[in-house]
Amino acid sequence: MKRILITGGAGFIGSHLCEQLLDEGNEVISVDNYFTGAKSNIIHLLDNPYFELIRHDVTMPFFIEADEIYNMACPASPIHYQYNAIKTIKTSVMGAINMLGLAKRIKAKILQASSSEVYGDPKIHPQPETYWGNVNPIGPRSCYDEGKRCAESLFVNYHEQNNVRTKIARIFNTYGPRMHPNDGRVVSNFIVQALNGQDITIYGDGSQTRSFQYVDDLVNGLIKLMETPDSITEPVNIGNPDEFSIKELAEMIIDITGSKSKITFEPLPADDPTQRKPDIIKAKEMLNWEPKIKLEEGLIKTIDYFKKTLSL
Ligand code: NAD
Ligand code: UDP
Repeated sequence: MKRILITGGAGFIGSHLCEQLLDEGNEVISVDNYFTGAKSNIIHLLDNPYFELIRHDVTMPFFIEADEIYNMACPASPIHYQYNAIKTIKTSVMGAINMLGLAKRIKAKILQASSSEVYGDPKIHPQPETYWGNVNPIGPRSCYDEGKRCAESLFVNYHEQNNVRTKIARIFNTYGPRMHPNDGRVVSNFIVQALNGQDITIYGDGSQTRSFQYVDDLVNGLIKLMETPDSITEPVNIGNPDEFSIKELAEMIIDITGSKSKITFEPLPADDPTQRKPDIIKAKEMLNWEPKIKLEEGLIKTIDYFKKTLSL
């Protein structure tokens, strides 16, 4: 039995990771300050004696014994990460320093939840890990993008200077049950709007693309990456390469829900990436992993979840 620390364990992705790692017979400790996460995401795990919750902010040092650390703590939706941009940078950078320092001290393996946002508004399509990205360092998304880029640099340097056993997952747009209904991300926004019969708000003309990954696929990819030999420390894209325009996504959600909602077009936020699609050759080769859940199948599960939580 391993003891596994998950920062951001009460969040959308973190809660699924806690669940899966407990199912696999591990002891799991969630560390979260509940900024965007919620106890309701993990309440069903609380009667498991091998699960523990700690309220803590990762910008402050932390000490515990563990075999592995998944560093997931960071607000992920533009509304949440722009709410307090300085705090977002601190969470990414000081959170990484504190967790890497801990990993160094206790000789734990540590995985960073990085992001496709390190590629910014990419000029290369699809994005391989070798691409350095096109990020505006002073734009509205920079607190998140540059925080994640700095965290990657910290991971690389803690490995090279201090032999910390590091892993970096570049996570692409992920959706599924327990997404926050009001966090402004496109999948949750469109589903909630469709179920409530409200207008579906497309920003821009809807021709921008994203590649959506179901959360179960991501969790499997993260665990496989953590299990790779210590020699694997370079970033690995974890995402679903099936690419859709935002307009196609809206139409698919209207279709599945049978909603009478109309589509409206609103201004595109500044620095909104025009396209995004992972090159997952590395994940296929190194992790023997690829996503299994098609967008329509994942949307049906996610819509069922929102129907229950919104009591519709
Ligand atoms: P989320 O907002 O649901 O989860 C983040 C969790 O971190 C929340 O429980 C929150 O309360 C906690 N947290 C935030 N700041 C903290 C702090 N200072 N100290 C302790 N806890 C803190 O987001 P998510 O979608 O589950 O994302 C999880 C991780 O994956 C994040 O690091 C995010 O950047 C990364 N990621 C997510 C996506 C995606 O599509 N969801 C894509 C790329 C990367
Ligand atoms: N988007 C949209 N309507 C919404 C929410 C988002 O058209 O109600 C667009 C947004 O402008 C972006 C895409 O959907 O082009 C994905 O947005 P999200 O915030 O989910 O993820 P990110 O931009 O961080 O990839």
